[in-house]
Amino acid sequence: MDKLEFSFSKSLLAWFERHGRKNLPWQKNKTRYSVWVSEIMLQQTQVATVIPFFERFMKQFPTIVDLANAPQDDVLHLWTGLGYYARARNLHKAAQIVRDEHSGVFPDDFEQVLALPGIGRSTASAVLSLADNQPFVILDGNVKRVLARMFAIEGWPGNKKIETELWDLAISLKPKDSAKAIPVFSHYTQAIMDFGATFCTRSKPKCDECPMNKNCLALAQGKQHELPHKKPKKQIPTKHTYMLIPIVNGRVFMRKRPQNGIWGGLWGFYECEYAPEFINTKQTLINEVLGNSVGSEFANLIETVRKIELNEFRHTFSHYHLEISPILFEIKTTLPCKADSLLLGGAKEVLSNKENVVREREVILNKETDYQDTLVNTALSNVITNEKVNNKSDKGLWFDIHSTPSVGVATPTLKIFKQIQSSY
Ligand code: SF4
Repeated sequence: MDKLEFSFSKSLLAWFERHGRKNLPWQKNKTRYSVWVSEIMLQQTQVATVIPFFERFMKQFPTIVDLANAPQDDVLHLWTGLGYYARARNLHKAAQIVRDEHSGVFPDDFEQVLALPGIGRSTASAVLSLADNQPFVILDGNVKRVLARMFAIEGWPGNKKIETELWDLAISLKPKDSAKAIPVFSHYTQAIMDFGATFCTRSKPKCDECPMNKNCLALAQGKQHELPHKKPKKQIPTKHTYMLIPIVNGRVFMRKRPQNGIWGGLWGFYECEYAPEFINTKQTLINEVLGNSVGSEFANLIETVRKIELNEFRHTFSHYHLEISPILFEIKTTLPCKADSLLLGGAKEVLSNKENVVREREVILNKETDYQDTLVNTALSNVITNEKVNNKSDKGLWFDIHSTPSVGVATPTLKIFKQIQSSY
């Protein structure tokens, strides 16, 4: 076994010299912060997908303190499309802890790193070995696959017993000698990740070219496609949701979702589980969907509400499928009689001087449609914005359908935006 262990790390390091990835964006000007961000993004996500997200993220938040000081909406916005949004929320929380408890310096102590939200044993090891050449080993999905094949380990690696066995094995295979010119632990960690991602891949392992094919037990037993064993299959349930989307003057209404639960902290449409027959009435639309986000004056502007069913589609989470039925509620507004009734609470602050309204009315009185649009937009100006999310955001905001929202939204929300854009 000693011979094989020695050969394994040595062979892997030799393979890395020839085939390893050495020019990824997070390998340049490497810091614990940049490595950490990349490792979190790379969880469940491929390198090619991560690169543009990483570059945008580091441009906007070049230091961990920049990240800590940013509003959560900005962080989630840059994460839109990457999925698994708890990663972004934890990254933000962890940055705030580093700012407040570690003077803004990402810790170099394993236990302190492990104590940060969203960082498990393998991620803490990856950050410290890759950035600081500390002697820690990792056990991500790629490494589990390589070890399960090399040593023909039967069973699903997510099983606690198998996982413990793999951790013990990973530690026993660690390079023994770091007294070399090269940062051996950093290279070894990168090597084993790259080898799993590019060589010993899930469906097409390159066994013919593999430098370790003589020692690989899975290959010897003809089990290279079988190992590691898959997670035992469990039927996942299907749920259904209706997403109700008020639209007025090219703007749709969204609220920020609670921090816990799916798409926590992202912005999304009002949802209900049952067929929304009840929503046909104007009053229910205001009470149920818009809630207290607009004043009663807005009701006076609504003339008709037309229900438009958009294309249904399915979104799959790891633990269930979600059938989504988006329904648009197209609100047509009317020209109210009194200038006073046009103004919402927020708009009153903006247009506190009633004379302004009267003057505006005189200027464009002949063009009733334009006038109506102007008044509706003015009336909603303090709650309609996608430029800056202000402190009224807990009530919900209106977003221009023709621009990408400047806050975090889930992939299905973006899909619905695209559907609406194509018909408006
Ligand atoms: S021989 Fe094939 S299965 Fe074994 S480690 Fe190499 S690439 Fe993976």
